[in-house]
This record gives sequence, structure tokens and C-alpha cells, in this order.
Amino acid sequence: MSTGISRRGFIKAGVAAGLTTRIAGASTLKSKPDVIVIGTGLSGLNAASLLEEMGAKTLCLEARSRPGGRLFSHPTVTGNPEWGGDSILGGYARMQDTARRLGIKLIDHQGRRELSPEAHSDPKRVELALGGKLISRDEWPNHPLNAMPDGARNRFPGRGFFQGEIGKHNPLASFADWMKPQSAKYDRSAYEFFKELGWSDAAIELNYNTNVQYGTSAHDVSMLMWFFVQAWFKLQGDVARVAYKVDGGNQRFPETMANALEGDVHYNKQVVGIRSGKNEAEVHCHDGSVYKAGRVVCSMPIPTMRWVKFDPLLSPAKAKAIRTVQVQRITKVVMVPKKPFWEEDGLSPAMWTDTEAGEVRALREGEDSNAVTCLMAWGRGHLADRLDTYGDEVAMQRVLAAYEKLRPAAKGQLELAGIKSWQSDPFAGGDWAIWGPGQVTESLPALMEPAGRVHFCGEHTATSNRGMEGAMESGERAAFEVAKLLS
Ligand SMILES: Cc1cc2nc3c(=O)[nH]c(=O)nc-3n(C[C@H](O)[C@H](O)[C@H](O)COP(=O)(O)OP(=O)(O)OC[C@H]3O[C@@H](n4cnc5c(N)ncnc54)[C@H](O)[C@@H]3O)c2cc1C
Repeated sequence: MSTGISRRGFIKAGVAAGLTTRIAGASTLKSKPDVIVIGTGLSGLNAASLLEEMGAKTLCLEARSRPGGRLFSHPTVTGNPEWGGDSILGGYARMQDTARRLGIKLIDHQGRRELSPEAHSDPKRVELALGGKLISRDEWPNHPLNAMPDGARNRFPGRGFFQGEIGKHNPLASFADWMKPQSAKYDRSAYEFFKELGWSDAAIELNYNTNVQYGTSAHDVSMLMWFFVQAWFKLQGDVARVAYKVDGGNQRFPETMANALEGDVHYNKQVVGIRSGKNEAEVHCHDGSVYKAGRVVCSMPIPTMRWVKFDPLLSPAKAKAIRTVQVQRITKVVMVPKKPFWEEDGLSPAMWTDTEAGEVRALREGEDSNAVTCLMAWGRGHLADRLDTYGDEVAMQRVLAAYEKLRPAAKGQLELAGIKSWQSDPFAGGDWAIWGPGQVTESLPALMEPAGRVHFCGEHTATSNRGMEGAMESGERAAFEVAKLLS
């Protein structure tokens, strides 16, 4: 179900506000577009699509040979597990509306995704492994490695636990308040917040820094970001407890969006320079080609903008934000079981470990919603970097070995089906934006601001959503920003 107004309703609302009258003088020439959109991830595609609806002629330049950017589905493993963006949640109005408009079939995987560490029924249950050993639920409360905060010794460590604690102390009345000036006082480290709750360093190390989801440790993430994230995720579930995935893999989503564009999409066009002139903008590609248009929408992820020459130079605040805002580091390994070895040892195939296997999820994405189709090991933060240093083949073998060491029944029963390091991907440079202490207030607004004829979108410029819906939101904001100037 969609929760926001429909796309047509949105465009109409824009027109009523005088924003989106059909763009006057929009070029009909085949050769020169009104707007060049750099990047064909969800944000760039949504910007291009909306600009076309408002009458602009667009041209998309994409460095890869495919659209979708951080949406990338495994081509052969059953259920097309996602290397990148995975779940389309209840409040993703733009994603759901676009799916409906373009006839993209969404399947709700919520029942299969319930990997709550608190769940006690196989195969949703997650095993805990610390210090090289599996620890049973019965052993855990009195186990020597149990560093849970007082009153929580029977709780499973990690995000499920600490996000609940954040929820109890979240000062934001609404997730939308995170950008308000009065919220700036919370733009400090998550470490400070946990210490104020009375947590020991060991509790922070166990819960936050092990299998870290945002940043590399509690020191380098802003608590203001977490207050937003917690409230925003809660809202998603309150709207509808769903986790959609596209039939055939999420990559079908941007592919369908790209095919629906009227303007051309040029693939294998790596942008290396953007010049914003008095009357037009120029986009320079690695192969020497140069494109011109009245406006440019740049949807490139933060790290990849570090490798682009901007002329004139960007403002100090924007340049600083591009150089200093971090993105999450994630390396994933997919392993396909030859037989359900977990039936032999009576444990769940999913594990939360402090080994090189990181957090291992058991995906059930085939026709039979109970059958495990693959295991996906997530290495995050410094673990992702460490895996990358080994090279792909050795990294996969080490993840497999770490898993088999904990689970002898798995020996010889898992087939390696690929590895993906997002930080080693030259057209991503990492995953989602991580706001460090002070950066929500300083860097996020700077990343959004236009530079001459260049406008910016991408999930890192979203203020009301994260992930895929954030990317769509940002493309929409950039499209209206440009449309106002073209009309
Ligand atoms: C492991 C992982 C799990 C995730 N899970 C979820 C989830 O469950 N739910 C959710 O909502 N979101 C999730 N996300 C986030 C979501 O996938 C992203 O927020 C979203 O896809 C980003 O879209 P974007 O358009 O901002 O960026 P991108 O998709 O990265 O698009 C940017 C485009 O720019 C192109 N580009 C880069 N450099 C150049 C250049 N020099 N010249 C030309 N083109 C260039 C890229 O190739 C790319 O196509 C996840 C992401 C990852 C990686």
C-alpha cells in the first residue's frame, strides 16, 4: 500500500504551487538536452523521469553498462539475492507508486525476513558466536563474554537491542525534526549517548562496534542521525509491516525506469569533469566526449564525486562535505547450501559472530518461503576493509572457513556464489552515507546545495527518508529545483 500522494497528484500539486508548468522553451532538438542527468541509480532516474513529465528533454550519462547503481541483484542464485538495496518498506510511497505505474511486480518478503535475534523458532532464529564459540541462549546470561548493560544480560546483542534503547530515549517528536536547528544539540557521537546511558565500553564494543551497521564504531556516527533513523524505521513498520522485493530482483526496478524514459541513456560514460558556465554547463567524460545542456543533475555517490573535477571549484562547505562524509563499508559473500546441514546440528543457519564471517543471514527467497536459498555473510566497517585486503578469492574462502569452524556440520556443504565489496566499486565507493558527529547540521545542507548550473541528488541528500526511498525523494527535490529555473 502507498501512503503518500500519487505521482500525478504530486505533479498537480507542484503545478498549483506554480512550480511545474510545462517548461517554457524546452528544447525539442535531438542533439542538445535541456538537462543532463549523471548517474542512473534511483535518484537520477527519478529526477530524469519527473523532468520529462514536466516537458524537459533529458540525457542520462551512466558510467556502468547497466542502470541501477546500488541496486544490483545476483543473476543466478535462486530468488536473486540482493548485493545492494534490498527491502522496500511500508512508507516507501514513491517506490510503491512508481512500481504501480510501471507495472513492476513487488513481492512481500516480510515473513521471510524476520531475522529478529529474539525469535526462537527456526529458521528465523539467529545463533550467537563470540570468542570462536557458539553460545546457547541458556548459557548467555551468565557467560563470561556477556557485556550487556545492567538489566539486559538475557538480551541478544546488536542493533535490535540498542535501537530499542535509542527508541526509549529519542527526544525527537517526529523523525522530521532532525533537521531543525533546535535538534543540533544531538549532533554528537553515539558513544557519548551510550556512556550517558551508563554503558561500559565493553557493552558498546559488543552491541555497536561488532557487526557495525552505521560507521566503523560508535565514535564516528552522529546520535542525531540515529534518532532520525530509529524514528524513521519505526514509522515504516507503523505504516505497514511489509518488506517488498521486486519479482526477479530489485535491479528490474531501475531497468524498467530507464526503459520508460523518452530521452537517451548513454552507458559506459564515466564523468570526470563538470563545468558550470555562464550560459550552459559542460560534462566531460573519461572517453573524451563532452556533453552540453542548460542544467546538470549530478546523482553520483559521495566518494565518486571526489574523483571529479568541478569548474569552478565547489564552495568550501560543499567541498569539505564531499571530502569528509563517510559512507558505510560493506563486503558481502553469498554461499549456497548443498543440503540443509542445520538439520544435522539442530541449529539455525543464521549466525551473528565476531569472526570474519560477520553476520550471516539465511535467506528464503524461493517459491517455498520456508526453504533456505542461500546464506549471505555481511562484513561491515573495518571487517569489510579487512576482507577487501585479501582479494576476492581468499576473502570468500576465509568467510567460508570461519563459518565452517563454528559449524562443523557445514563442512563441504556450502558452495561459494560470489562476493561484492561496495567500497571497492569505482562507481559507488561504499554504501549509504553515514553522518558523523556535527555533519547532519553542517554537511548535509552543503551536499544538497546547487553549484551554479549543477544540482545534486542521491540518497546522501535526502532529509525525510533513507535508502531507496531517500534516493527517490532526492531525485524529486532536484527535478523541481531545476524545473523552476528552466521555466
Ligand atoms: C548492501 C546494501 C544494502 C541496502 N539495503 C537497503 C534496503 O534494504 N532498503 C533501502 O531502502 N535501501 C537499501 N540500500 C540503499 C539503496 O540501495 C541506495 O540508497 C540507493 O539505491 C541509492 O540510489 P542513488 O541513486 O542515490 O545512488 P546509486 O544507486 O549509487 O546511483 C548513482 C549512479 O551514479 C553512477 N556513477 C557513479 N560515478 C559516476 C561517474 N563518474 N559518471 C557517471 N555515472 C557515475 C553509478 O554507476 C550509479 O548508477 C542498500 C544499499 C546497499 C549497498
